[in-house]
Amino acid sequence: MFLSQLNPEQRENAIACLGNENFDVLVIGGGVNGVGAALDAASRGLKVALIESQDIAAGTSSRSSKLIHGGLRYLEQYDFKLVREALHERELLVSTLCPHLVKPVGFLFPLTEKFRERTYVGAGLALYDALRGFQRALPWHKHLSQKQINEIAPSLRPDIILGAIKYFDAQVDDARHTLSVARTAARHGAIIATRVSAESLIRKGKSVVGVNAKDLVSGKTIAINATVTVMCAGIWSDELHEKFDLKPGYTVTMSKGVHIVLPGSAIKSEAGIILKTPVSVLFIIPWGDKWIVGTTDTPYIGDRAKPLAEHSDVQYILDQANRVLSPELKIADIIGVYAGLRPLVANKKNSATTKLSREHTVDRPAPGFVSVAGGKYTTYRIMSKDVIDLAVNELRKLTSESVTEKLPLVGADGYFALMQQVEQIAEESGLEPDTVTHLLNRYGSMINEIFILIKENATLAKKLSPDLPYIRAEILYSVSHEGAQSVSDVISRRTRISFEAKGHGADLAESVAEIISPVLNWSNKDRKESIAEYKSIVEQELIALGEIKIACEKINS
Ligand SMILES: Cc1cc2nc3c(=O)[nH]c(=O)nc-3n(C[C@H](O)[C@H](O)[C@H](O)COP(=O)(O)OP(=O)(O)OC[C@H]3O[C@@H](n4cnc5c(N)ncnc54)[C@H](O)[C@@H]3O)c2cc1C
Repeated sequence: MFLSQLNPEQRENAIACLGNENFDVLVIGGGVNGVGAALDAASRGLKVALIESQDIAAGTSSRSSKLIHGGLRYLEQYDFKLVREALHERELLVSTLCPHLVKPVGFLFPLTEKFRERTYVGAGLALYDALRGFQRALPWHKHLSQKQINEIAPSLRPDIILGAIKYFDAQVDDARHTLSVARTAARHGAIIATRVSAESLIRKGKSVVGVNAKDLVSGKTIAINATVTVMCAGIWSDELHEKFDLKPGYTVTMSKGVHIVLPGSAIKSEAGIILKTPVSVLFIIPWGDKWIVGTTDTPYIGDRAKPLAEHSDVQYILDQANRVLSPELKIADIIGVYAGLRPLVANKKNSATTKLSREHTVDRPAPGFVSVAGGKYTTYRIMSKDVIDLAVNELRKLTSESVTEKLPLVGADGYFALMQQVEQIAEESGLEPDTVTHLLNRYGSMINEIFILIKENATLAKKLSPDLPYIRAEILYSVSHEGAQSVSDVISRRTRISFEAKGHGADLAESVAEIISPVLNWSNKDRKESIAEYKSIVEQELIALGEIKIACEKINS
């Protein structure tokens, strides 16, 4: 059987494999769509490899609003098919595919008017609930009076909010989920290598028969042979099409979305809040003991790998939230800010190669090469299935249908039972029940692998920092099982310390490096370099945040 572990030894074997084997499918890109495509293809019995130039989920897939939702705003556009499809995915994720990672979350839709708005929004939410069909993992929506609102969400201004409707969607740690899909693909035989970049295509006549890639650690070039190459490069799609000299049927533009992170004390509410804004919606989302508030939607043309928030983004978020909140959110409250780039797909006129669904496109610009782009996180499984359905035509052999609808991710099995056994597990492991719950919600049934590490070294049961929920074993596990290769991978994506801790967790970089060094076989120099790399990312972000704070304070004074 194949293993799901991603670590230095596995990477070394993967690199060797990439140059020696003939793959059915080679996936470019380790965002949610790329790992989803790798899982879809591997679980059909195909021989699959995936290369990612940075870290798993280092692109858009770690920078979203982290909602698994049907998209309420599509109802206003009468796009019921799209909403139904996304709601179906939401139910699958919450109940079967990864209940340890995707959790229901309640939202208040505040009403500023007593009758007409309640009827309109109420009808919309009834339709939203009805469109999910007979699967009912999440509660039905509920009308709330002003008195109930005052109890549930004292931070909503009673002078303008006259009632609300509470409805449910779901939320996920996007980077962790993407990683879990990658590990599930590995468990089904996919060869996965990060820090390997696709540089050019290998062609035989008109057909693409593989990719020349660069191992960014050793600097070596690897010729990877594959019958079909599947590109899932998100916002990098245009750049790669040009590099590969392909004429695709679509283009991808970028739209920046910014979120701010605030301490729990900044907003008093037992549920999330959704607000209609002049251009879209603003979400106030509970995130552990913090709040994530966003997002914006502005055109972007800068560095794809390092989108940074500007003061106008943050000011917009504060202004919109402060329309309904009392006390108002203050710039000084902000703990962290992150920006992400949406891949917006536009089909070229009269394109013969593309198939556009409402939000995503699959394309075949050359024999042996297909791609997918656009869509949203929630529907990654459908996008992955669509692109592999197109890819298998190139294989010229009978291939099974996608089975991912029935394929729980690693850690999902037994999760609901384990959650009922928290007390026993806590007693047996010597950990606090809260820590056991935290671990189950990140690793599900793979919690055993964490316990094995603690058994070997009891100090790993200690917390990394008293203010954060992570224990030291999780940091070690990031490199021994989850493919992290740097301090930044651990702080930014295996954990979310980068936006959960004050100062982006820069003061924890040394402790993290100390824990992960032995597994990564680091010299003193390697360790210092990785710490310095993370600190320099933080420095840039703190400078940007400092400038934002000064600019916003000026505007507000
Ligand atoms: C602000 C914001 C909020 C959002 N909120 C939500 C939400 O709440 N719910 C929802 O459903 N959706 C949401 N989305 C959308 C969702 O996040 C994206 O649709 C999804 O993450 C895109 O995934 P992807 O795999 O296509 O792209 P990415 O995650 O960007 O993956 C592409 C990968 O390709 C790699 N790559 C690039 N070039 C190469 C190369 N040469 N070789 C190898 N690899 C390469 C990159 O490093 C990258 O990791 C949001 C998006 C944004 C920006």
